[in-house]
Amino acid sequence: MPKPTRAAIYTRISNDAEGRELGVARQEKDCRALARAEGLTVVETYSDNDISAAPSSRKPRPDYLRMLMDAEARRFDVVLAYSTSRLTRRPREIEDFIELHEDFGTQLVTVASGRPDLSTADGRMTTRLTGNVDTAEAERTAERARRKQKELAESGRHNGPRPFGWNIEGRGADQRLTVNEAEAAVLRECVQRVLAGEGIWKITLDLNARGIPTSTGKTWATQVLRRVLLRDRNWGMRKHQPLGKDGKPKGKPQLYPGQWEPIIDRETHDRVVALLTDPARRSNNRGTAPKYLLTSVAYCGECGGHIVGTAEYTYELKSGKTRIYPHSYKCPHAGCMKVQRRMTDVDDHVSRVVVALLERDGVRLLGGDPIAADAARTRIAELEAKMKIAADRFVSGEWTDEMVSRITAQAKPQLEAEKDRLRGAQPADESLDEFTGPDVAKAWESADVETKKRIIRLLGMRITIHRVGPGNGRGYDPASVTITPE
Ligand SMILES: [Zn+2]
Repeated sequence: MPKPTRAAIYTRISNDAEGRELGVARQEKDCRALARAEGLTVVETYSDNDISAAPSSRKPRPDYLRMLMDAEARRFDVVLAYSTSRLTRRPREIEDFIELHEDFGTQLVTVASGRPDLSTADGRMTTRLTGNVDTAEAERTAERARRKQKELAESGRHNGPRPFGWNIEGRGADQRLTVNEAEAAVLRECVQRVLAGEGIWKITLDLNARGIPTSTGKTWATQVLRRVLLRDRNWGMRKHQPLGKDGKPKGKPQLYPGQWEPIIDRETHDRVVALLTDPARRSNNRGTAPKYLLTSVAYCGECGGHIVGTAEYTYELKSGKTRIYPHSYKCPHAGCMKVQRRMTDVDDHVSRVVVALLERDGVRLLGGDPIAADAARTRIAELEAKMKIAADRFVSGEWTDEMVSRITAQAKPQLEAEKDRLRGAQPADESLDEFTGPDVAKAWESADVETKKRIIRLLGMRITIHRVGPGNGRGYDPASVTITPE
């Protein structure tokens, strides 16, 4: 066999002792020095970042693969690495390299672990052993880290950057969280607003408009605020997610009493979680578009909490039959959950009441002046009729162009004035104008859920869904939903 002349350098950075100590640049420098000493020409360098991968991770290392393929294409005859464990510590990848040597004669030369002779059984064994020892070492390190994390959690200690709502005081073992009163007040405010049915998106915009930063001094994003509101830390609990050997979450997250003062009580926190994790709210990434009319509007007749809407779902029985549970409203509160009703029934009922109210008294109920609005509306109808008659008579030849122009010139400014008067008598919120005229039913039908919710709130309706007996929610009894002035 001719003496090999072409070499490739492979470097790898990882989160073990050797990997942390040896930067990629250092590994490469040492390999280049070795190449010079061996009389080899470096034709290519490969480098993988393996920092976040657990020892048993199967996450592919793109450059390791590329290197194997180039070796098979005989672009070089020698792979230079700092050590066997820098090349890889995955048994599977060591086997790949041994195979590469068998098929193509590719050699491995290292700075720290010498030159394993992969053509002999001893050489292969040494290489495999080195790999195993490295794997064991890496696993022990990970295990120690997992144990340490669990101990920290069990003792209720905080770990990580400063959370919004608290300050970090002390250092090391004395480190503890103390309530940051200004941020705690903001947190409580956000909780109240969520419970009042306000969208996270709107609250986020408001915090940013008021110049209130996150704990890291950044502006808020809806997802960040949502996470902050869902934290168990808020009601004084330390959450711990155990990890498996592969570094992925394993088992259920555990809660331990935290060593800090809570900002929110548990019951309130549960309500926030029920609202924020309501599938109806998660439907878009703003996390705010309310899909269901009465979510966070109607109340549970048993516990007085807000009810939430839930999507239709299909359930397969053991017999193989499927049952379809329709969209419904439910009380989500732990300890109650006694109320449930089919959504379309309740929505139809409430819609009928709202439309009847708006038809009868919409202008006043939405904050306008009904008498002035009626008068203006009558005048507008008269003026429009007059202009239409003039136009008809012109078309039929009864009136001349001049006569029509005279009528129009008189009527137009009057019409504009009456329209102004009507606008002045309408609710202050112009977007609600169509809910005060004769076409209320149509307007309600085509309105989006957000607008409908707003109208229900403006009307001051308190909607309560009561518990009914056995067969809860089968036949709809309108008496089981009460609508009273708030
Ligand atoms: Zn309830």
